[in-house]
Amino acid sequence: MLVLVINAGSSSLKYQLLNAVTGAVLAKGIAERIGLAEPFIKHNSSGREAVTLPVDMPNHKVAVQAVLTVLLSDEHGSVKSMDEIDAVGHRVVHGGERFSSSVMITPEVKRAIRACYELAPLHNPPNMTGIEACEEAMPGVPQVAVFDTAFHQTMSPKAFMYALPYELYERLGIRKYGFHGTSHSYVARRVAELLDKPFESLKIITCHLGNGSSIAAIQNGRCVDTSMGMTPLAGLCMGTRCGDIDPAIVTMLMEKENMTRQDVDTLMNKKSGVMGISGVSSDFRDLYAAAGDGHRRASLALDIFKYQCRKLIGSYAAAMGGVDVVVFTAGIGENTADVRMGACEGLAYMGLSIDPYKNAAVRGREAIISSDDSVVKVLVIPTNEELAIARETARITGMKL
Ligand code: AMP
Repeated sequence: MLVLVINAGSSSLKYQLLNAVTGAVLAKGIAERIGLAEPFIKHNSSGREAVTLPVDMPNHKVAVQAVLTVLLSDEHGSVKSMDEIDAVGHRVVHGGERFSSSVMITPEVKRAIRACYELAPLHNPPNMTGIEACEEAMPGVPQVAVFDTAFHQTMSPKAFMYALPYELYERLGIRKYGFHGTSHSYVARRVAELLDKPFESLKIITCHLGNGSSIAAIQNGRCVDTSMGMTPLAGLCMGTRCGDIDPAIVTMLMEKENMTRQDVDTLMNKKSGVMGISGVSSDFRDLYAAAGDGHRRASLALDIFKYQCRKLIGSYAAAMGGVDVVVFTAGIGENTADVRMGACEGLAYMGLSIDPYKNAAVRGREAIISSDDSVVKVLVIPTNEELAIARETARITGMKL
């Protein structure tokens, strides 16, 4: 029941080989600088020292072959033969409206993924490169696509439509899609398991707070709203992404600052967010260090982030007519007690209060952090997108879990 999970970026390829039943990770790593000078593979095999191996990787096909060679090697390997790998699960960022679930990859599915290139020009093309590289390197091994957008396809038109001329939705697919779906779905289901309640009976707000951040409202097992939009630029202010801003700012910048479309795109994706506000860093550890030293704009960036999280939690509780559970996950959500506290501050009126001592003690592990009398439960659940992708792959290929 071994699944190789692949997350292919433009010049990198993350991989994890895991047992979809037990969740045991046999090996994981990343091939970096594919197609660039000095490429290497960072490989971590369970129970052994992590290694960095310089490997010539002019393209993704060679990178997949190199990863397989490492996985099969005597020195660093985890399997003796390729036959032990039952299937490959690929993270695909955008599935548009076509995919509301994971699918077995076929020529038709590949055409549909290509049709979404315009919606995710930075992500879908490298995802496809990863798929084709694995198809070539592992002929006959089932390949499954697991989409970041799929879980959010249950949103109703009132949640996903933008108030633009309707024909733009019909002609160009301009609407909210939402991202991080694999993570939102994983932590929400895990919460139901931990609380021993049916997933379909709960109103859950999942806060995936990392380099990219999004919040989702999940009612009766279905996503009803989420903060990212047509692209992962929308919603919360993030590490370097601006999140929601007045759209008129875009045209103003183009006119007043003589910026091109590309300039504005770079500004909003790479130079904004907490990095842009603080001028210090996109990393919350650096922001807390600077704020501790009295850096005013670092404190402001943190305040903005917490305030925006709190507003979304409040609005999603309103959207669902209440909330049973709030969950924090991803790098910031799992590790930063102050963000969790700030995101839930002042919500006692809706029956939600965090226990400051429990909260302060939690870092990167599953725990309930709400106070004993809080009607709304608040939890930290480390996300595990690779395990979720491996399980989806096992389900789609009909492997017995
Ligand atoms: P992710 O995208 O989920 O990997 O999250 C990455 C971000 O999480 C980093 O940029 C940090 O801002 C934050 N992060 C990760 N670890 C910690 C930590 N121990 N304390 C505070 N923030 C952290």
